[in-house]
Parts: sequence; structure tokens; C-alpha cells
Amino acid sequence: MSDRYAVLGNPLRHTKSPIIHTAFARQTGEEIDYCAIEAPLAGFAASVETFRTSGGKGINVTAPFKLEALNVATRQMPRATEAGASNCLKFDGTEIIAENFDGVGLVRDILDNLKVPIKGKRLLLLGAGGAARGVVIPILDAGPALLTIQNRTRSKAVTLREAFADHGPIEVGPSEGAVATLHDIVINATSASLRAEMPEVGEYAIARGGLAYELAYGKGLTPFLQDAKARGAGMLADGVGMLVEQAAEAFRWWRGIRPNTSAVIGDLKIPLE
Ligand code: NDP
Repeated sequence: MSDRYAVLGNPLRHTKSPIIHTAFARQTGEEIDYCAIEAPLAGFAASVETFRTSGGKGINVTAPFKLEALNVATRQMPRATEAGASNCLKFDGTEIIAENFDGVGLVRDILDNLKVPIKGKRLLLLGAGGAARGVVIPILDAGPALLTIQNRTRSKAVTLREAFADHGPIEVGPSEGAVATLHDIVINATSASLRAEMPEVGEYAIARGGLAYELAYGKGLTPFLQDAKARGAGMLADGVGMLVEQAAEAFRWWRGIRPNTSAVIGDLKIPLE
């Protein structure tokens, strides 16, 4: 019988994870069975346990369960602990091990797929929720000159700066009226695009030709991407590359083999123009 894996979230209508992992399995010759499980909002831990005890080997975790995933784990990998959230679980005997591949997925997409350097560059991260928290350390590890965080609720951006100041140059965005720094890469990690809204995060500026990266995917040219383009961004990307790259990291962690991501990203990408 094939080893079983699943993605757990709620809602899960638009999940791409089964398509991605099935493509990885076909490509690598690994025999796995991957399904989507919409866990009840108050039933994440029970759903994990049912899947695990019925022979499941691992789980990808999506909203709103990433915090709970960390709590159900018996062991946390450093990236999950640092991010304060987990997007991937592996079952090993009686152990439930928590990892987080969101940040490494984003950085891989920017560096390897989009071929945009981070080292020495000025980055702006819009948002301070779960996804933003998970990407801060991998971004700082890539050596930017400065990472600025701007969030609608400023205090949450301050909390992130305080949590991660030891990892690299990080600041909270300017207070109202201040002149905005020119950023080489602007990343929208707010959830505003899920409602087709422009994030309310104050003023920002993007260097001519810079990269505007939208974490949401499958939404086309979001208000943020349109706005960034009007401000001079030369390159636009959505989060499909990040999604596929984090999935590839999960697949490698589970199966010991890293699939090739470019064809899968190509199949899932929708035009942003
Ligand atoms: P959270 O709910 O944890 O955080 C939401 C964030 O968005 C908060 O910082 C919140 O600000 C901000 N926000 C919400 N609405 C607005 C608005 N109208 N204007 C300004 N700020 C706003 O969400 P996540 O961090 O889990 O997800 C964020 C995005 O990242 C989503 O689009 C999600 O789909 C995407 N994502 C993509 C992944 C990928 O693989 N491509 C992986 C994970 C997430 P405040 O603190 O003020 O409330």
C-alpha cells in the first residue's frame, strides 16, 4: 500500500497541494497517496490523530491551523520554533515532528526561480501575521542590507522586530508622513489580496525595476501588484512559486528526494499581466 500524506486546513476548496505532491510523486517514482482533509475548526488535533493512527506518514498544514500544528507536535524543528508556527508535520513512530518551510520556499523562489538577489538589497515586508513571521529569518539569512516591516497594526511589526533583531538588520516602517525608503523588493504578506483589497499599510516606495512579490496566489493582478507596478516595479510575482518550493522541501523531508519544481510551477502559474 502507498504511504499516505494529506493537507489539512479549513476551508480547503482551492488547495493545490494534492496536485503538486501527486506531480512530485510521478516525477520521482515515489509511491504516495495524497489527499485533502478539511478539518473542523475545533477539531484539528483530533483529525491529525485519526490520520496518524490510521497509518498516515505526514501532513501539510494550512490556515488556520499552523499555530495548532506546533502545539500538537512532540518535537519542533528549529525553523518551526523560530517561526512560532508549523506548516508541515512528519510522523515517526510515536513522534509528531513539526517543521516550517514557508520562509525557505519564499527565499528559494526569489533567488532560484526569479533570479533576484537579496544580499545587500533593501526589502520591505508588508504584514506581520503568521506568514510574515515565518519568512523573516530565512530572508535575514539571505543577507539583505535592511528588512523593513510595515503592518496595519504597528505594534505587531514591533513585536516581530524585537523577536528577530538578533538575526539581522531589521526595522519597523516609518511613522506617518516620513519619507519612505526606496525598496528593491516589496513583499505583500498581508491577507488583503484574498478579499481583492489594497493593504492599508501606509506609504511605501519601490525602486524602479524592483520586484513586487504577492504571497497570495491564483488571484491574478491583485490591487497590491497593480499599485506596485504603477510605482515603478519592473517584476511582478505571486506566491505560487513559494507554494511549490515549500511543498518540494516537505517532499524531501518526508521522502528523502527533492523533486524538480520548475515544470510544476509552470503548470500552476497564471499570467499576471
Ligand atoms: P494572517 O491572518 O496571519 O495575517 C494577516 C495579516 O494581514 C496581518 O498582518 C493583518 O494586519 C494584515 N491585513 C489583513 N487585512 C489587511 C488590510 N486590509 N490592510 C492591511 N493589512 C491587512 O494571515 P497569513 O499571514 O496566514 O497569510 C497572509 C497571506 O499570505 C495570505 O494571502 C495567504 O494566502 C498568503 N500565504 C501564502 C503562502 C504561499 O505559499 N504562497 C503561504 C502562507 C500564506 P493586522 O495585524 O493589522 O490585522
